[in-house]
Amino acid sequence: MTVKQRAEFISSIRKLLLKRKAEVDSQLAEQSHEKLTDGMVQDSADEVLSLSMETLQNSLQRSEIDELHLMEDALARIDKGEYGICIDCSDPISEKRLESFPYAARCIVCQEAFEQ
Ligand SMILES: [Zn+2]
Repeated sequence: MTVKQRAEFISSIRKLLLKRKAEVDSQLAEQSHEKLTDGMVQDSADEVLSLSMETLQNSLQRSEIDELHLMEDALARIDKGEYGICIDCSDPISEKRLESFPYAARCIVCQEAFEQ
């Protein structure tokens, strides 16, 4: 893959990430809005607040928030020109790995070492 192809590849991943981020953002906004509106009917303002905190902590939403953080990390690395470079060994991460896991910050070798 040439430098130009690599740049195009990364820019297509950036588009995917932005699209996915918009989806998760609107899902999260919808969920917290729904919960807040439900709460207002029955509860005092304080309870509404704790209710929305609970909502934030439920696992479904937490996994979306985790994903959002991963996406923001990946997008920040793209903007800094560091995307697709392993944060541990500075080797390029394979396109195949980035395609199946666009949030990858490490090459497979370093990821395996990191997880052990
Ligand atoms: Zn590495």
